[in-house]
Amino acid sequence: MSNEKLSTQLVTAGRSKAFCKGSVNPVIQRASSLVFDSVKAKKFAVANRANGELFYGRRGTLTHFSLQEAMVELEGGAGCALYPCGTAAVSNAILSFVKSGDNILMTGAAYEPTQGFCDVILKDMGVSTSYYDPLIGADIASLVKENTQVLFLESPSSITMEVQDIPSMVKAARAVNPEIIIMIDNTWAAGVLFKALEHDIDISIQAGTKYIIGHSDAMLGTAVSNERCWERLRERSYLMGQMVDADTAYVASRGLRTMGVRLKQHEESSIKIAKWLGDRSEVAQINHPAFPSCKGHEFYMRDFSGCNGLFSFVLKERLTDVQLENYLDNFEHFSMAYSWGGFESLILANQPEELNDIRPVNKVEFSGTLIRLHIGLEDVDDLIDDLNQGFNRIKV
Ligand SMILES: *Cc1c(COP(=O)(O)O)cnc(C)c1O
Repeated sequence: MSNEKLSTQLVTAGRSKAFCKGSVNPVIQRASSLVFDSVKAKKFAVANRANGELFYGRRGTLTHFSLQEAMVELEGGAGCALYPCGTAAVSNAILSFVKSGDNILMTGAAYEPTQGFCDVILKDMGVSTSYYDPLIGADIASLVKENTQVLFLESPSSITMEVQDIPSMVKAARAVNPEIIIMIDNTWAAGVLFKALEHDIDISIQAGTKYIIGHSDAMLGTAVSNERCWERLRERSYLMGQMVDADTAYVASRGLRTMGVRLKQHEESSIKIAKWLGDRSEVAQINHPAFPSCKGHEFYMRDFSGCNGLFSFVLKERLTDVQLENYLDNFEHFSMAYSWGGFESLILANQPEELNDIRPVNKVEFSGTLIRLHIGLEDVDDLIDDLNQGFNRIKV
């Protein structure tokens, strides 16, 4: 492991001569078939196909190896499996470690398709899911049963942004079953603002679609694993045919080079905007991990090295359908779209009952409309102007 600071690591990781061949960036090696020069060379490739020898496209090419090496340098661990999107990373990581009759512990405020995967696919396979309150802390121990194979974390929670007390949860779960497989959806931290593997988590999963890609133009999933789980994750993901194309692996590597400065700007602007929102009379609550009003803020302060552009806030009032349309349809800089992590600002609204529909436990208690923002790289004063005009549109 390198002692370099994060910004330097992001610039240098995965850029060895073996992958770059004299250029600054790794080569784009598009391939299904990879040619062996001799019987001996083929034997060597077969024997070392899991250790960075070119073997067959589904195992990756130099472009993929470069990205995988970079991810391991950034997150720690023994290896990084690549997937065509974040959802594939979540589902295949889980599938690699469960069988019929097993149970998994899933945060009750997980990314919605993650819950859907548990409720539909795992259920049909005979794997049960127990949802827990993201703020459960050490009490997670009481939910770890004989057949509990996986503890799945996501922090902060999707949309409502609760930060989990991960060290307490990991310690408590391992006290009951030292072998339990602990995974985290570490997308919000971009894999680097929270160092999952240093907290005794086995597998750190990311929707690389968000900050790694960073430009809303490609999809990617990554799962960085410690030594204990790497072989199983790698081989089972391989058997399930998980891979990404070389061009996407390339733009992911390129995204890493600027992720440090992008995250810093997202952080600075989102904090400025959350502060401004906190002073508005229309706003009841700021769900931004860097703010004391966010549930689990103390764990954010202790465990994270920074934040990004994604947070939510709750209005005192519930907007009517007409107000919502008028509010959301007329922003200049905030587009309405799923996903986040790109250079552009985004906005989405949720009514409390819509949130409760996707929260099996830990129902929300507020009655106002929740607004989720992704603060992009536009000038922060332009964004504040835009939000200000939004408030003018919902004045009663
Ligand atoms: C977007 C997202 C995913 C899914 O990623 P895709 O690449 O869109 O499949 C998973 N988890 C979290 C927290 C996300 O925000």
